[in-house]
Amino acid sequence: MRSKIVAGNWKMNKNLAETEALLTELAAKLPDTTAEVMVAPTYVNLASAVRTLESSAIEVIAQNMHFAENGAYTGEISADMLLSIGIDTAIIGHSERRAYFGETDEILAKKVVTALAKNIRVMFCFGEELEDRKSDNHFKVVESQLKNALFSLEAADWSKIVLAYEPVWAIGTGETASPEQAQEMHAFIRKTITDAYDASIANNVSILYGGSVKPANAVEIFGKPDVDGGLIGGASLVADDFVAIIKAI
Ligand code: 13P
Repeated sequence: MRSKIVAGNWKMNKNLAETEALLTELAAKLPDTTAEVMVAPTYVNLASAVRTLESSAIEVIAQNMHFAENGAYTGEISADMLLSIGIDTAIIGHSERRAYFGETDEILAKKVVTALAKNIRVMFCFGEELEDRKSDNHFKVVESQLKNALFSLEAADWSKIVLAYEPVWAIGTGETASPEQAQEMHAFIRKTITDAYDASIANNVSILYGGSVKPANAVEIFGKPDVDGGLIGGASLVADDFVAIIKAI
């Protein structure tokens, strides 16, 4: 059985004091849920976030990590560094990393391999741009993103993969994929994995939707059979909104 997950990607928001305040509020307001709840604050606040949430069910995860073990990569963060502060899940392949920091499928494939070798769970993000959807290439684009970064993995590796489908045109724009569009793509993703591997791998991988999820639309989106939760940006920065989204799962 695949897990339900609600994760907050805080991106480059919240300083140390703000991070502590939001985490404390979230921990206090966390509703009873069978879903896994995760937050990804900025790197500099990860260690303190882990301490703050020590006795909470909320998991702290990283927004990114480097593919190299260590070495001369100024400004980068390794898998071992994350593990050393108690973090064992990393977001990889977010569209902002792809768009603004030149992360290609090839680089992402290397990051995934490194993460899995270190036993770090990967939350792999992908999704088409507006032009891809307008030109009816969205399925093709998503298929190639998955294939290039993930389909060289061994079947057993898939137990450490979570997928997050985030159509770029819906991120931070206030525009969401309709629940039907999300479901259609998530079902396509499962079929693509079934074809590349088998149905049991496809049925066991959690596929999250991301892109302007809000309390007002979460119930409908999460209600779709192939949507296993959400990766939330803006709305995860407001405790009551994030809590409402967790309740929607
Ligand atoms: P928004 O929820 O702000 O659209 O961001 C989605 C996202 O990019 C999560 O990773």
